[in-house]
Amino acid sequence: MFEKILIANRGEIALRVVRAAREMGIATVAVHSTADSDAMHVRMADESICIGPPPSPQSYLSIPAIISACEITGAQAIHPGYGFLSENANFVQVVEDHGLTFIGPTAEHIRIMGDKITAKDTMKALGVPCVPGSDGGVPDLATAKRIGEEIGYPVIIKATAGGGGKGMKVAQSAADMERAFQTARAEGKSNFGNDEVYIEKYLTTPRHIEIQVFGDGRGQAVHLGERDCSLQRRHQKVFEEAPGPVITAQERAQIGKVCADAVAKINYIGAGTIEFLYEDGEFYFIEMNTRLQVEHPVTEAIFGVDLVREQIRVAEGLPMSFTQDDLSINGHAIEVRINAEKLPNFSPCPGRITQYHAPGGLGVRMDSALYDGYSIPPYYDSLIGKLIVHGRDRPEALARLNRALGELIVDGVDTTVPLFHALLKEPDIQNGSYNIHWLEHWLETHLADG
Ligand code: ADP
Repeated sequence: MFEKILIANRGEIALRVVRAAREMGIATVAVHSTADSDAMHVRMADESICIGPPPSPQSYLSIPAIISACEITGAQAIHPGYGFLSENANFVQVVEDHGLTFIGPTAEHIRIMGDKITAKDTMKALGVPCVPGSDGGVPDLATAKRIGEEIGYPVIIKATAGGGGKGMKVAQSAADMERAFQTARAEGKSNFGNDEVYIEKYLTTPRHIEIQVFGDGRGQAVHLGERDCSLQRRHQKVFEEAPGPVITAQERAQIGKVCADAVAKINYIGAGTIEFLYEDGEFYFIEMNTRLQVEHPVTEAIFGVDLVREQIRVAEGLPMSFTQDDLSINGHAIEVRINAEKLPNFSPCPGRITQYHAPGGLGVRMDSALYDGYSIPPYYDSLIGKLIVHGRDRPEALARLNRALGELIVDGVDTTVPLFHALLKEPDIQNGSYNIHWLEHWLETHLADG
């Protein structure tokens, strides 16, 4: 059994891990930059240690600083949260080389899924349906044009090392290919140090549906249904729900089994998410995230499980605490991401919180590291809280979200809360009729004048 774990992250996700560990009787170590000395995760963990100055490369991304923090505090394992080092295969290798346990997948699995071409090839071989496209990398413009003709326009050119919406360009026609191909390559090179690109059919009105999987590393794996994360701005999710409003029980069982079988076959360990685009009843794999997702709480709500607890259990070599047959869906859950950003441009809005009041009551969960008087530093991402509601069905969850948003008070900085008040008034949101482009179109017509 682990006695002490270190959390290589900050903000709400660091608190999330502290909470799971505390319930398991495991002590926690928080790490922080000098900008985060007063942060909630530092206050809430059993111990804390400063690992460097504000810029993340010198603190939250500094592998030597984090390994030293483990050695100084005697932590036996590291939970990476999401972002930062959570999908860094080299970090996992270093952690293991120091005799510590990484609470997450193996370096090899992170490496495979971190390269989108290898990920797609692997998934295809495991029987997971993929978006039609090039067979691997596309070396030059002439090949790109030939593939464009073969699969038919529009197509999307993607950097194999891409992420966070960077390194993806749509070509509407052959005439558009040169620009899209060169830009995707250049973005891949400048953001990720790799200019290899591949091509996919561009789906025009898909939904983003992702399947939560969980493996024990010894050939057992389950799925925990889907999340619909189609409401996105610049490929960043802002509103997520489970179950998906348009996914049938039969579709869930079928794609869920394909995903669970795929990760079982590779002895995957821990939490993972297999992301799909969904159009006209078909699922198309786009990528796999080898970590806990920001939106994991909607899955926890409807299945009544603690995914972080499970991550820690399997990292210790224990079996999962549930089998597929134990997992059934109860009700509907929605999460909204509350960012310290000023509308209509979503410009970051760090600053001091003069008043904070979290909503409560039946079916309401607020995952946030805010407190009265807290100063949001300007160095990190702008997510300051996640409001998750759970109801017996979708209409109840929507009504609860509206009620909870009304109780929430965050004064002192601008937030994205007004966006959610406005979205809840939209018939399409009430009906669940949206795809991955819905929010961008809505923002253009509704927020243009502030
Ligand atoms: P990233 O790693 O940057 O998040 P993904 O491959 O997960 O990139 O794609 C992010 C988003 O881009 C998807 O959720 C979807 O909105 C859009 N997208 C990706 N591939 C396609 C495609 N083939 N057709 C249409 N949209 C796509």
